[in-house]
Amino acid sequence: MTTADSGGSIAERLAAQIERMHAATRAAGRAPESVRMLAVSKFQPTSAILEAYAAGQRDFGENYVQELSQKAQELAHLADLRFHLIGHLQTNKAKAVAALAASVQTVDSTRLAQELGRRAASAQRSGPLDVLVEVNVSGEVNKSGCAPEDLAPLLAAVEAEPGLRLRGLLTVPPQSSDAAFARPYFNQLGRLRDEHGGRERLPELSMGMSSDLEVAIACGSTWVRIGTAIFGERPSPERTP
Ligand SMILES: *Cc1c(COP(=O)(O)O)cnc(C)c1O
Repeated sequence: MTTADSGGSIAERLAAQIERMHAATRAAGRAPESVRMLAVSKFQPTSAILEAYAAGQRDFGENYVQELSQKAQELAHLADLRFHLIGHLQTNKAKAVAALAASVQTVDSTRLAQELGRRAASAQRSGPLDVLVEVNVSGEVNKSGCAPEDLAPLLAAVEAEPGLRLRGLLTVPPQSSDAAFARPYFNQLGRLRDEHGGRERLPELSMGMSSDLEVAIACGSTWVRIGTAIFGERPSPERTP
């Protein structure tokens, strides 16, 4: 059992994906708590998030600011439920995210880092906003993420913001039906982490989705982002950001 259409309830599929994550972590010889599950709930109704929450899931990934804001407001009574932004963020939408998200995993420009830092510093937050920098390791033209050669100044810009806490890197490899195809891109993200301060400075690597979780964990992922394998196919067609 790997991806979508495994049947069962959201709670059952979530449990199966957590077991899958643990099996991959064991197979990689890593500590069980070294990888966490981000349940990607974009386009899924709030009721689906509530089902996963009832089954113990606390971290949810959303791609669009408006959708994240709406769901965060609806679920504000669940104080330990955390939303993470994993879609491209426009500077003019930084304010809402800075107030509502536990992390933004897709910071990809110095200008965005500065605006997010300013907004996070003035938002009513219990602590700084965690930030991961998205890197376009494949160099695909229509993909967001900073170029590997722009990483050094961007990391420094994040660290210069008292409202932000630099945590790591995220990447999305080119789409492929073959999970092994992602391996060089995941390895490249790990190499970039090593070149830019290592685990000390960049403890988190956000990589791996429903189709390639095992490969990502073998390559050092600390956050896997799983959507369809938990919630089933997304209700509406994907928009491109
Ligand atoms: C939608 C999305 C996911 C989840 O993908 P699945 O294949 O449904 O698991 C993970 N990461 C990002 C950045 C996404 O946009």
